[in-house]
Amino acid sequence: MDCLFCKIIAGEIPSTKVYEDDKVYAFNDINPAAPVHILIIPKVHIASAAEVTAENADIVGHIFEVAAKLAKEKGLDNGYRIVTNCGDDAGQSVHHLHFHLIGGRFLGLKMVED
Ligand code: AMP
Ligand code: ZN
Repeated sequence: MDCLFCKIIAGEIPSTKVYEDDKVYAFNDINPAAPVHILIIPKVHIASAAEVTAENADIVGHIFEVAAKLAKEKGLDNGYRIVTNCGDDAGQSVHHLHFHLIGGRFLGLKMVED
């Protein structure tokens, strides 16, 4: 499958790994929006949040567990944001489910652009 993040998991495209286990991979975003900007992805290919089902939803809980652990490790004690963009209106650019873990500065109060 021609998927950038599947290639990153396979090591075919380089990335800066932050965490890995049998189910998930986490790495630094190449274009960080804040001092900490980590992408946490399932090793299994799921195209987006719209493809989460009763059969594969366990991975989402595990990703949030990893996010909490990484946020503590990175010292994000003052807060952080977890974002997943789904589909064109959200600007999803890589069609492999991923959660942005963003922090290390005040992120603003706006949820979306006007
Ligand atoms: P989204 O726009 O929500 O689909 O997020 C995709 C994210 O992947 C963006 O924040 C990009 O900066 C990031 N990205 C794209 N290519 C790479 C790469 N090769 N390594 C790390 N992050 C990447
Ligand atoms: Zn993929």
